[in-house]
Amino acid sequence: MTSWHSITKEEALRELDSALTGLSKKEAAKRQKKYGFNVLEAKKKTPLFLRFISQFKDFMILTLIFAALVSFFVSFLHGELDLVEPAIILSIITLNAVLGVLQESKAEKSLEALQKMSAPSALVMRDNLLESIDAKELVPGDIIYLETGHFVPADARLLTSVNLKIDEASLTGESHPIEKDAEAILKDNILPAERINMIVATGIVTYGRGTAVVTATGMHTEVGHIARMIMDDETPMTPLQKRLAATGKALGIAALIICVIIFLVGILKNRPIFEMFMTSVSLAVAAIPEGLPAIVTIMLSLGVQRMAKKNAVIRKLPAVETLGSATVICSDKTGTLTQNKMTVTEICSCKGKEEPEGNTGKFLLTLSSLCNDAILQITGKSKHQKVSATGEPTENALILAAFQIGLNKSQLDLQFPRIYEIPFDSSRKQMTTIHKLPNGGYRQITKGAFDILLSECTNAYRGGKETPITHVLREQLTRLNESMTAKALRVIAVAYKDYPAESSYISRLKNKTLKDGINDAEQGLTMAGLIGMIDPPRPEVKDAVLTCQMAGITPVMITGDHVSTACAIAKELGILTKDNSNDLSYSSLRAAEIDLKASARYTSPSSNQAMTGAELSQISQEDLVERIKNYRVFARVSPEHKVRIVKALQARGEVVAMTGDGVNDAPALKAADIGCAMGISGTDVAKNAADMILTDDNFATIVAAVKEGRGIYDNIKKAVHFLLSCNIGEILTIFVAILFGLPSPLLAVQLLWVNLVTDSLPAISLGVDPPDKDIMKKKPLPPDKGMFADGLTFKIITEGILIGSLALLAFIIGIRFFDNNTLPSDVIRDSKTVELAALSTPYVGRTMAFAVLSLSQLFHSFNMRSEHSITKIGLFSNIKLVLSFLVCSFLQVIVISVKPLANIFKVVPLTPAQWSIVLVLSFLPIVVVELQKTSRKK
Ligand code: ATP
Repeated sequence: MTSWHSITKEEALRELDSALTGLSKKEAAKRQKKYGFNVLEAKKKTPLFLRFISQFKDFMILTLIFAALVSFFVSFLHGELDLVEPAIILSIITLNAVLGVLQESKAEKSLEALQKMSAPSALVMRDNLLESIDAKELVPGDIIYLETGHFVPADARLLTSVNLKIDEASLTGESHPIEKDAEAILKDNILPAERINMIVATGIVTYGRGTAVVTATGMHTEVGHIARMIMDDETPMTPLQKRLAATGKALGIAALIICVIIFLVGILKNRPIFEMFMTSVSLAVAAIPEGLPAIVTIMLSLGVQRMAKKNAVIRKLPAVETLGSATVICSDKTGTLTQNKMTVTEICSCKGKEEPEGNTGKFLLTLSSLCNDAILQITGKSKHQKVSATGEPTENALILAAFQIGLNKSQLDLQFPRIYEIPFDSSRKQMTTIHKLPNGGYRQITKGAFDILLSECTNAYRGGKETPITHVLREQLTRLNESMTAKALRVIAVAYKDYPAESSYISRLKNKTLKDGINDAEQGLTMAGLIGMIDPPRPEVKDAVLTCQMAGITPVMITGDHVSTACAIAKELGILTKDNSNDLSYSSLRAAEIDLKASARYTSPSSNQAMTGAELSQISQEDLVERIKNYRVFARVSPEHKVRIVKALQARGEVVAMTGDGVNDAPALKAADIGCAMGISGTDVAKNAADMILTDDNFATIVAAVKEGRGIYDNIKKAVHFLLSCNIGEILTIFVAILFGLPSPLLAVQLLWVNLVTDSLPAISLGVDPPDKDIMKKKPLPPDKGMFADGLTFKIITEGILIGSLALLAFIIGIRFFDNNTLPSDVIRDSKTVELAALSTPYVGRTMAFAVLSLSQLFHSFNMRSEHSITKIGLFSNIKLVLSFLVCSFLQVIVISVKPLANIFKVVPLTPAQWSIVLVLSFLPIVVVELQKTSRKK
């Protein structure tokens, strides 16, 4: 095996049969066939059979199996072997397990698909063109480009390295990033951690950039060798799922206790043991909300899929719930609120506005093209020539503006080769490069934020000569900058510094003996001028901002840009309103209180609405917590400030969504309640730290996700409301009947049928209910207020009582008026005999109770849809629920009317008169709840 670290990079290229221009697409495809995909083999999946078995591990299901077995043995001991009842219980449980496995696989698949969507990509040179591909498609010999924030996608030998530092902690455990050097040639037998000319898959570029040739992919990489899994593929339960699982368990245990009590009471009252046992089993079946956990999982996974279609990829399931409670959305400006399509619109020398074609214009664009990492890509010929730039939008704009006046960056790079650089970083807000001049001397170029550069400049380039920056000139330059930022322009200041050929500073830089070149280099500069570029707001954001405000969510802009640029855009988008200072709390913003025209009347940003990073650094965290409520814009902030902002908002009880893209945004993304990483411009590190990825980098997507989150929460609430009120109805039916000495109105199999078949479909259909029209006009859901607050428990209990009473009423009507008619005529002589006979075989009563229980619940499902009347939201706005209703009603009628099925369920076909009673009773929940809704509205 080749020791890639002990040979030169040229040898490595030769060995891998590759070149700096990259592999051809054909060759890459050939190699992919040979080496396979660049992925680690996933953990072996649990076989289907074992997954099926694990469905039976549930405590509730085990209770049911136990009940089925006991019922089998007891009937056997009684000499009347009844196989039907246990068989039905077992088959319904089995059906439930099959559905469980299917749901699990479906949820797993959708999560896998999501993981694919958030899989890392790699910047690779193929056919001499730089392109971004799925990291999975890399092959040995590929030339990859690495920038700060990238994951290292495969093992590779470095070809170039510029201040490259890589964090390899996940592989080596070394906590500090390692400085890499492409030029080094190392001894053969050194440890992987010491191979500074190599990079390994799973590393993270924390600083600088470089290029490398891939030496190993997939399972052949270092990580592959130790077969360590990088992805944490476990999906933990969300808080809501945990809470509901606990509720389900509590209900189950309570039911078991009631069962025991009823059983004992029955025995004391000398009721037959077998009958009492079966009644207790029925009660347990009735009380256990078997479908609940599965339904919540289905709803979350369906919701996550819907969100992915709307460009919001959820990485951590609990985020779906938190989204519904968001009260503040802190958003980056560039690319999220704006289009990130920068175009140079204004060029100013230190005297004032200039034409790009003029001397100063050319000078500024040359400097800013050299101090620039974007790559100019020219495809096609003459008339069909297409020019584009690959790089950071700010830098793309600069080289494209230069190209328009005939300055080609690639040629400039050859003319003035770069010998040193200090990359841009959003904390320093500037970037420096040093170039060799044709006359043998050197020129340093620094470009960056105006206010920062101004403090580093001692001279200004005016009218062809350098003049010292006096107080007056400083004022003039500041005003010039302000005139540009007030037009919402991003301003890049450009400065330079020349060194003679024999400069000792430069030779120390070149020999790498200067450890800390940064501090010295960016001082004593000459300001060359300012370049202004426009980045128009995204058209859809204005509406999204308004929607946010109506929904009681406060949008806050956080940007590295100048405060005036930030305020100008914030004003255009409605983030800055006329007077936010009266607002005592973010969450207190109510739809009705929002003056929609306020943004239009807005005059100028007042100091209490925008805060700069410098001010932020000066105040204590306590002060920030106190004052933060007044601010809507944070400008010239560094990523480190974002954590303070998140913490201050959280200290005020806000639920914060925060966007981020860079490596140093990761702590803020982690600290926020919902960290949102940018899918397009975001680094792998940011994506890894986030709860949600915005695949279109768009603010409006966060708002859409909040709407979905609220909708999903609402729908889960509807399903829980529905299932629990039905379960309580079932418990009451049996409990009350036993208390009054009646036989059990419903048998275990009947209850299982209702719970697992006719209840589940409507509950699932409620999960896809379209969100209420006014869902974004309500306040955010308070996170600490559980689902059962706001009178839900009361509703569940009263509606449960209603359903229970109706089923019981049907049972009593059945026994009283119909069951005696089924008896042979010679028995119907004295009323006492009739009553006793009817009680021992209450066929019609049970059938009617069974039908009313099932159908009233089906009707009741429509009540769940909204707090508004059904007539208002429209019967057909959830067609799935209508279909579920029809299918389940049909099944219910079949089970009762088709003889063999009726025998299994121990029911008898009903007469038209009996059906009419059943229908009237079943429809009552709609009437009662509609009346309740109307009275509540009044
Ligand atoms: P936002 O936080 O709204 O997304 P941003 O992250 O784009 O803004 P930064 O990238 O931190 O903000 O930019 C801050 C300032 O740094 C800009 O106002 C600009 O003056 C300067 N700047 C941005 N990009 C570059 C660059 N490539 N080279 C030099 N200076 C830059």
